[in-house]
Amino acid sequence: MTATDTPATRLAHIARDSGRYDGLVNLPVQRGSSVLFPNAAALKAAGAHWDSAPYYGRHGTTPTFAFENALAELHDGYRAVVTCSGVSAITVALTAFLESGDHLLMTDAVYGPTRSFCDGMLRKFGVETTYYPPGQPAAALEPLIRPNTKVIYLESPGSLTFELEDQRGIAALARARGIKTLADNTWATPLFCKPLSLGIDGVIESITKYIGGHSDLLMGVVVGTKDTYPLFKKSAALLGQYAAPDDMYMALRGLRTLSLRLERQGKTALKLAEWLAQQPAIARVLHPGLSTHPQNAWFNRDFSGASGLFSIEVQSGLNSAKFVDALRLFGIGYSWGGFESLALPVALQGQRTRSALPAGDIVRFSIGLEDAGDLQSDIAQALGKL
Ligand SMILES: *Cc1c(COP(=O)(O)O)cnc(C)c1O
Repeated sequence: MTATDTPATRLAHIARDSGRYDGLVNLPVQRGSSVLFPNAAALKAAGAHWDSAPYYGRHGTTPTFAFENALAELHDGYRAVVTCSGVSAITVALTAFLESGDHLLMTDAVYGPTRSFCDGMLRKFGVETTYYPPGQPAAALEPLIRPNTKVIYLESPGSLTFELEDQRGIAALARARGIKTLADNTWATPLFCKPLSLGIDGVIESITKYIGGHSDLLMGVVVGTKDTYPLFKKSAALLGQYAAPDDMYMALRGLRTLSLRLERQGKTALKLAEWLAQQPAIARVLHPGLSTHPQNAWFNRDFSGASGLFSIEVQSGLNSAKFVDALRLFGIGYSWGGFESLALPVALQGQRTRSALPAGDIVRFSIGLEDAGDLQSDIAQALGKL
């Protein structure tokens, strides 16, 4: 396999080592805390490679390193560190760079629990967070930068309202000032966007979503460059971060079919988004791949595809709960990226401090692997209840 192979081909071949495992196609599940060494000298020598060869279970086993390296490779990164959830990956990445007295610039469209970590934990340890309005040209961030600003954090697109960031512009602005950039890339996965190649210093993804893909595990990853990876790994070790072997086996299994699922889910989602934009009850469709999306130019520049998550804003005055309750094929609940479709009534109150709230109710769809026509008919009948 080479870097020029297409993603589908790479996903079928990465992280395999059958010569090492009795010819088996897949990596084994290695459960373990203690790793034994033949003698005291070997134990001591192994300490120098604690982050790349089995040393103690918490720091990773051979399948862990293989899975991490696969994610790093897909991102054109140096190395990666897996953690027990997407949120834990976010905490690992932020605490790798920040210390007491530092300032953090954070997108106002950020995933709610990331905001809670900044306001509820970083603040306690003396790190101040300023939220910036999403979707602005990079220059709009300049006046918000302070001498003690250490990190600019992006989520592109935001996972409720789907504003994109000028990842290239912000990365360049930050780099010139010695500021580190982090991007939550859960929506795109490495198949559709590689923020490290746009100049971002660290990429965070919730593996729980598309890579897991089956709504049955929680895991996260931080992918770094040669400069930033050692800080991420150290932060993960200090925080006691770890991903469970059985979950990792399932995540790797999910990775094998990621391209197939994303292609199908993305295609169905775009089709539904275009159709929804024509419906009179809908005020706006929030999908970065639509030509009407305010940052569609950045989408075309930085992304090679769209996944299956997007939102609608219903006409103001309409009660979206009636619509959501009438859906037959969509589960009502959190998380996304699984094989099954979900609809979420979005409550933005308290989730935004620097941007105007939309006039109408927002409903977010995670489009699954169901037939596009069936999903459209279901949405059509539910819109009738509005
Ligand atoms: C779900 C989500 C996370 C957190 O992932 P968990 O694995 O549930 O902890 C982080 N970022 C985004 C954008 C998410 O949607």
